[in-house]
Amino acid sequence: MRKATQSFTPLKEGTHFTQKTFPCKSCGASLVFCADENALKCEYCGALNYLYPPHLPIYENNLEDALQKISHRPKYDLKAPKQIKCPVCAATFSLDPHIRSTRCPYCDAPIVTNLDIFMPLAPKSLLPFKINQKKAKEIFKQWVGSLWFAPQELSRFTQSDSTFEGIYLPYWTYDSSTNTHFQGYRGDTYYERVNRTVFINGRQEDVEEMEPRIEWTPVQGEVARDFDDVLIGATKTLPRKIADALQPWDLDNLVNYDDKYLSGFESETYSVALDDGFEYAKSYMEYEIREAVRARIGGDHQKIERIQIYYGHNTFKYILLPVWTAHFRYKNKAYRFAINARTGIIKGDRPYSKIKIFFAIVTVLSVAAGLFYLSQDENALLPIKDFFDNVYIEFR
Ligand SMILES: [Zn+2]
Ligand SMILES: [Zn+2]
Repeated sequence: MRKATQSFTPLKEGTHFTQKTFPCKSCGASLVFCADENALKCEYCGALNYLYPPHLPIYENNLEDALQKISHRPKYDLKAPKQIKCPVCAATFSLDPHIRSTRCPYCDAPIVTNLDIFMPLAPKSLLPFKINQKKAKEIFKQWVGSLWFAPQELSRFTQSDSTFEGIYLPYWTYDSSTNTHFQGYRGDTYYERVNRTVFINGRQEDVEEMEPRIEWTPVQGEVARDFDDVLIGATKTLPRKIADALQPWDLDNLVNYDDKYLSGFESETYSVALDDGFEYAKSYMEYEIREAVRARIGGDHQKIERIQIYYGHNTFKYILLPVWTAHFRYKNKAYRFAINARTGIIKGDRPYSKIKIFFAIVTVLSVAAGLFYLSQDENALLPIKDFFDNVYIEFR
């Protein structure tokens, strides 16, 4: 579905950098966004303070227009102040230049900054957290429990009071109407009769066999394909293979951006530029376009010799998506996990316990040797072979 588009408006210059908290109407303590209530909740007295976001349409922005307007600015124009002054305890501390919201390391107050004033683009919409930290930990625990050959340390990690960080990650969404011209060959398989001389039971015989051949016909044509919301992670905190794999997201439920949703969570500004993000999006789109071209060529085999893709009516959105993440160190290597805080989908790297794999193989081989010795029969090995056929280690 193609939504309304809007010309891109750059941020006003001369805006001041701010750092703020949201005080409770009842007691004045800091409010944080509560995933269960979809409201701000007081960390001290528990009072709920509902959000009333404006229901403004969420526009797609014209890509070329935006790129042209921000072209005079360097790609990473981040002159973030090194020092943040906590609005609650007045302590000063330094913040990574890509972090927009965080907690004060001294008094734990949830602080939201307007770091975006230093960036050419600010997010206009987001999906609020729906899954809370407790639920995220349960999902992680279940996932670890389902893994084959996971080291003991991993299950200990799930029981520990491990830090699960709730973070809003920056994403680009791109739309494009593509038109592709292609040239190539369609291959159709046919069979030809051939005569062969074979030996059957020691006797020479002439037989007729059907042998497959491919007939190639030159083809050319056009394929049109529309893409809506191709999602590209704009963070460098999470590897792309994890960030882009947390799909699907219920983007129909995007709400207008409001600082209050960020209170209590970390959030990042983009560190993949708008044009670089579009290059990633193009590579995802090209993969699908090539599939479409093959389907159009038809036949049993396809060869694509030349392909020319035109990307037209390109639009984008800059959005924030909620994710729970955790790090895990195993044998001096860092592993990362991420949970989609809307759907609970979990993706991540996983360590393997070499010792567990080693003992599993030793056990299987000893059972095999035992069975073989007992029966002296080749068939005794079949169940073992079945076992190996069915054991597979998957990456999730
Ligand atoms: Zn309160
Ligand atoms: Zn503080």
